[in-house]
Amino acid sequence: MSVAREVESANAKYAASFNKGDLPLPPARKVAIVACMDARLDPARALGLEEGDAHVIRNAGGRATDALRSIVISQQLLGTREIIVLHHTDCGMLTFTDDVIRHKIRTDLKQNADHIAFLPFGDLRQSVLDDLAILKDSELVLNVPVTGYLYEVETGRIVKVE
Ligand SMILES: [Zn+2]
Repeated sequence: MSVAREVESANAKYAASFNKGDLPLPPARKVAIVACMDARLDPARALGLEEGDAHVIRNAGGRATDALRSIVISQQLLGTREIIVLHHTDCGMLTFTDDVIRHKIRTDLKQNADHIAFLPFGDLRQSVLDDLAILKDSELVLNVPVTGYLYEVETGRIVKVE
């Protein structure tokens, strides 16, 4: 069975007891969370979020630059007034460089991706600090509280980075 078929089946069960069809569009807790797409990280469960609570913007590494478009929409059109950056231990972004993935794309896909910044990093803590700085310095981002955390895939805990 394909995963698509599996999610259709899982969704039928979810929808059968669904009772949140009248939630407002803007996030109730007025927060945008920028998180890595890592499969081991479930922001809703790890951070106690329910449907309607937050914008959870996910990408490889949970990078701020990649999330900027969504953050601007979140703040300007949907009223969020706080940002949380959530990276995590054992992140795949620690395992390669731009040169490595660009070379793989040249070899495997016969394409040139030299113009794409894949935003890998060599230091976990620094990656959070860099993204906090990008958000605080951006002219497109409101002056709102921005907090960074590292999620430990080993323990389920978050550790504040400052
Ligand atoms: Zn990651």
